[in-house]
Amino acid sequence: MQTYDIAILGGGIAGLSLAYFLGASRSVVVIEREENLGYHSTGRSAAEFVLRYNSPEVCTLAAISRDFFDHPPEGFTGVPLLVPRGGLMIANAEKLERFEAHFTVEQGKTDKLTRLSIDEAVAMATILDPSYLAGAYHDPEFWDIEVESLLQGYVKGARRAGVDIRQKAGVMAARDDGRHWLIDTEGETISARLVVNATGGWADPTAGLFGVAPIGIVPHRRTAILVDLPDGVDTRTMPEINELDDEFYIKPDAGRLLVSPADETPCEPGDVQPEEIDVAWAAHHLETATTMEVRRIARTWAGMRSFAPDRLPVVGPASDNPRFFWLAGQGGYGILSSPALGALAASLLIGSEVPAGFTRAGLAPTVFSPGRF
Ligand SMILES: Cc1cc2nc3c(=O)[nH]c(=O)nc-3n(C[C@H](O)[C@H](O)[C@H](O)COP(=O)(O)OP(=O)(O)OC[C@H]3O[C@@H](n4cnc5c(N)ncnc54)[C@H](O)[C@@H]3O)c2cc1C
Repeated sequence: MQTYDIAILGGGIAGLSLAYFLGASRSVVVIEREENLGYHSTGRSAAEFVLRYNSPEVCTLAAISRDFFDHPPEGFTGVPLLVPRGGLMIANAEKLERFEAHFTVEQGKTDKLTRLSIDEAVAMATILDPSYLAGAYHDPEFWDIEVESLLQGYVKGARRAGVDIRQKAGVMAARDDGRHWLIDTEGETISARLVVNATGGWADPTAGLFGVAPIGIVPHRRTAILVDLPDGVDTRTMPEINELDDEFYIKPDAGRLLVSPADETPCEPGDVQPEEIDVAWAAHHLETATTMEVRRIARTWAGMRSFAPDRLPVVGPASDNPRFFWLAGQGGYGILSSPALGALAASLLIGSEVPAGFTRAGLAPTVFSPGRF
């Protein structure tokens, strides 16, 4: 039986970013149930990087991560990890008053936003229906993330540093001999001094396998559809479109249009699939806000966004077992925050200084500690 310092459970962006940042500092194994890495949430995201999203803590994680995306280490990837996209925030006439109030608040946070006339908004996103639109502003600070290149950068860097990555190796059971965890996977038993729970939507049940108390991390299903665009729409220059109340968002994706009804339905962890009703809502929103008619849906999918009770990530040793470490609850921002959270988790695990970005931003890692629950 092989023994490691650290066993990371879960081969999604969380587990693999951590493996990358741990590098050669410890002997590390990543244990993933599926044949393909990134098969679950990581492979189903909208690939969006934004600086203003969710809570102030998540905005800070994005700002810390930005440096890595803009200047990845030598040899990490051959392509830019962020591609400028820009974003429009839109509202219909019923919501105009709240839209103005929202714009005033957001303008107080950044001088990057531009209030647009209806004509200006339609010129930026020609599919928009002027009769739907009442308010719009442009935020240049939206980017597309090259998720596959990011994931492969983590994987290759981790492997170069000697990390073992076991696929098709679902963890079925575990026991503690006092010094090591003995982890039964589908194919073998692996021993490790310390375990990291990076199993996304399965984080709570995984803790149960190790006799650790759950935190209350709940997966929520989110749906996306891909539709063909009318001729003549340039997807390279078209911004992402977000509705004021997050009723839907629309975003160019590989030459087509990704539409999500921004659903957030609590679900059991698993290979979640789209429900017809959510697909119908996505098509309805697209037809309401734009001049497009949905004749054919090229692809549909759904994935899990998993939230702790306060919707912040959970990073640190379990209160009831210091040899069980949580790296979970990244909700709808796990890709964009992976450089910051992977590096933070690695520093906590090896006992080195927290990454400089956290210190500079005044963000204490204790904010994410499992002990807060
Ligand atoms: C539709 C959608 C849009 C999104 N858009 C964005 C976005 O634009 N930007 C952004 O930053 N984030 C976005 N997200 C969120 C992002 O995808 C997640 O936060 C992130 O992928 C979570 O990564 P993870 O590694 O924790 O989970 P996962 O990628 O799900 O990885 C967990 C892994 O653990 C494995 N596992 C579970 N149990 C076991 C076990 N017992 N043994 C071994 N392995 C196990 C699973 O097989 C899985 O591969 C979106 C999510 C969805 C669904």
